[in-house]
Amino acid sequence: MVQKPQIVRTLAPLRKAIAKLREKHERIALVPTMGALHDGHFSLVRQARKAAGAVVVSIFVNPAQFAPTEDFASYPRDLHRDVTALSKLGVDLIWAPNDAVMYPEGFSTAISPGGPAKAGLEDAFRPHFFGGVTTVVAKLFLQVAPDAAMFGQKDYQQLKVVTRMARDLDIPVTVTGCPTLREKDGLALSSRNVYLSPAERRTAPILYRVLKNSAARIKAGEDVATVMADGRAAVEDAGFSVDYLEARHADTLAPVKAAGDGPIRLLVAARLGKTRLIDNLGIQRT
Ligand code: AMP
Repeated sequence: MVQKPQIVRTLAPLRKAIAKLREKHERIALVPTMGALHDGHFSLVRQARKAAGAVVVSIFVNPAQFAPTEDFASYPRDLHRDVTALSKLGVDLIWAPNDAVMYPEGFSTAISPGGPAKAGLEDAFRPHFFGGVTTVVAKLFLQVAPDAAMFGQKDYQQLKVVTRMARDLDIPVTVTGCPTLREKDGLALSSRNVYLSPAERRTAPILYRVLKNSAARIKAGEDVATVMADGRAAVEDAGFSVDYLEARHADTLAPVKAAGDGPIRLLVAARLGKTRLIDNLGIQRT
């Protein structure tokens, strides 16, 4: 069924559209995105449809979460293609503000997240990142007032940070983490995969292979530090420059030394040429 979603770009029409959705539907679910949509995003939309009668997708490439050295200017943008794809998924509303709507002249308030935002993972390499994410997500939550919001486990630390933020600020939204969609060869879908050269694209699935292999070894009782060191070496041998490859507690993100300290989540961030890739995997308990 093709139902063209309403597209709104400014706050007053957004509020009107949300009020209208509220008249018809008991629950609204929000899927925040930066556009350049792929099947990972679409799986979040499908989850949202299960969770609520009305689905809102936001598309906003958030300048506040990019450092000046990062890829804000070159980040892929194709609103027309995104809208066409979302039309096939029964999305009710697309919220696509520009920078001036989201951060009007004089904007001077920001959220400063702690806890999982200071775990020493993404935050150690992108110190500006979670402040930018939480500020924009808090705004999105206030603008759309959703009952549910879908986030990908692909960005595992971000999922924890946003969940904590909503709880800490008493924002009445249920944050749901959705599984990571992957290419057939295991590479996690990401808008940034388009940056990979053909040779890099062939190398990229090694990240997931190493995560899977490391998870199996830890589950089999091998020493966590040894497994992580081997994994790091394998990723580096493949040509990546590793920011981190770590075993952390799946809930608190605290470092873990042994399988018994778990549940464990393995998290990796590594650069292949100019492209920075992240991925993660839970270790299933027996
Ligand atoms: P982004 O547009 O990259 O900011 O991502 C928007 C949302 O989609 C975030 O909650 C991501 O975690 C989620 N997401 C990104 N890639 C995937 C994937 N491969 N599978 C599932 N969700 C994803």
